Amino acid sequence: MKYAIGIDVGGTSVKMGIVSTEGELKEAWEIPTRVEDGGKAILPDIAASVKEHISGIADDVTGAGIGLPGPVDDEGVIRKAVNLGWDRTFNVAEELSGLLSGMTVKAANDANVAALGEYWLGAGKDYGDMVMVTLGTGIGGGIVHHGKIYAGTTGAGGEIGHICLNPNEKLSCGCGKKGCFEQYASATGVVRLANEELKASSDPSELRDAPVTAKAVWDAVRNHDKLAIRVAERFGYYLGWGLSIIAGVVNPEVFVLGGGMSKAGDMMIPYVREHFDKYTFHACRDAQIVIAKLGNSAGTLGAAKMVID
Ligand SMILES: [Zn+2]
Repeated sequence: MKYAIGIDVGGTSVKMGIVSTEGELKEAWEIPTRVEDGGKAILPDIAASVKEHISGIADDVTGAGIGLPGPVDDEGVIRKAVNLGWDRTFNVAEELSGLLSGMTVKAANDANVAALGEYWLGAGKDYGDMVMVTLGTGIGGGIVHHGKIYAGTTGAGGEIGHICLNPNEKLSCGCGKKGCFEQYASATGVVRLANEELKASSDPSELRDAPVTAKAVWDAVRNHDKLAIRVAERFGYYLGWGLSIIAGVVNPEVFVLGGGMSKAGDMMIPYVREHFDKYTFHACRDAQIVIAKLGNSAGTLGAAKMVID
């Protein structure tokens, strides 16, 4: 049996796994991400941990794939990763390979490797071209075309969260622009829409009794809370509209919705579908919209898949 190492680097922890070429996660573990001091320790920490875990099977390990929170191009060059304290441009794949005694290493953006994981073993398994949309604090995305990640020229391919949906927006997005997709349809966006609805009327709602979170909104929708349903409808309008723009460019067979907010499950899909169908060009409208299946392990599995291919 041959194995690949999957590495998924986040701002607080690095998830790692030994994955068989058949897609079985043989072992999974994590280490803390030491972002202090410009994140200098991150790659050496990863290399040391990988070496320790593969000591008995090193001859059967074909390589390592690494997903990172920043734009990474096809050559493995990262331009910046603020969450890791990295503000230089360098080839992560080469540097990690050097630390792993010349092992084959491939690097990509974290949302892109999660997309590849879902395509390989999760919700995208039975489909052709796929776009994954991660609904968390922000909105991330990954495009899988002909079974491969589409990284684009500078590694920002699939960075859909900052498509402008509202040029008249007054509030700034984290990226510095105004009116970005993720200001409306991310978990943060849903909380904001809920607070707007709560302010706009005095209608009764269970959302008035506790701190407003995206989970609280979807729990209330499940309980037929009318105000929460209005929030879900506005969310569906923005997400459906955003997906229609992507469909017009990529024309995927499936959209996979992942990230923390996708835990609300299939309940959110009709709200999105209604607006997607309204705004999407007829030849792209058959795209399926489904919920991701692999949760946190999508990144590790997708990262490993890059070297298995
Ligand atoms: Zn933005």
